[in-house]
Amino acid sequence: MSNVAAAVQPRSNFLMDHFALSSRQHLAKAKIERIAAKPPQVLIIEGGVSVEREKAALRYTAALNCLADDAPCGHCEICNQIAEKVFMDLIFLDGRTASIKVDEIRELRLKVGEPPRGSGMRVVVMAGAQGLTEEAANALLKSMEEPRPGNVFVLLAPQRERLFSTLVSRSWVLTLAWPDRKEPAYAAHQTPEGENLDEWKDALAGFIQSARGWFARTGVKKRVDKTLAQAFLLALERDLADALVATPDSAFSSFLLSRYDVRGLRQFDLVLSHAQEALNAGVSPTLVLDWTATRMFALGRRGFTA
Ligand SMILES: [Zn+2]
Repeated sequence: MSNVAAAVQPRSNFLMDHFALSSRQHLAKAKIERIAAKPPQVLIIEGGVSVEREKAALRYTAALNCLADDAPCGHCEICNQIAEKVFMDLIFLDGRTASIKVDEIRELRLKVGEPPRGSGMRVVVMAGAQGLTEEAANALLKSMEEPRPGNVFVLLAPQRERLFSTLVSRSWVLTLAWPDRKEPAYAAHQTPEGENLDEWKDALAGFIQSARGWFARTGVKKRVDKTLAQAFLLALERDLADALVATPDSAFSSFLLSRYDVRGLRQFDLVLSHAQEALNAGVSPTLVLDWTATRMFALGRRGFTA
């Protein structure tokens, strides 16, 4: 918050609730409190958008640790530390920025072998859990199979279908309201004028089948800028989401479903998150889209022979 904004902030708002969820998620608050009353060993939070899942996980952590009568109060010392992710009994691993490594999970097993340090529960949150490698997921399963009292896990992913089924089968799932595609957060990624994302998707599908027609499209000088790449990746992400729950809503999601099995779709998910990461890090948008198309082609080939 800027100094000016802080200065005009009404005083009554000073005790803000760190864990307030958007109005769209009004049902989640009560659900989280109900789950926290009898916390399962593993909770998966799906749906919503990334920041909402994170907030829900922190709210849950606070519900398990805040000492106020109306826990989580959202503004005591413990709640503040949880919101800042510096609370002693919160372990927050983030697969959105880098994939969660098997070494980190092994280290985790040592930590969850101990009782929590405070009077509440130790909560291990894994944001972007869809980025877990199979090896890391297996290591995680082992630590979840040896439950120590006072330790619980929370896995955050856009959809449970993007997690290894062995993880999902032993978890309790909380589904946040799914994002509305017309919402500003989504509409913010405008398609540049003169570009049609459906044509881009057709070109990608064509390339995956024939290895032709893609580079001529991205090779046009200055055609692919960050806005276009961003909008295209987001459109692919949505079609992938539809394909994963087997409710294709577009030609491209039907294509995905016919071309790739669940494993292939999961790989595609990782390709998209790496592409997004590269784009954020400033890699040339043309290069990012070419890399995405090439990876998709390679996945499609393997899927076809399997
Ligand atoms: Zn509190």
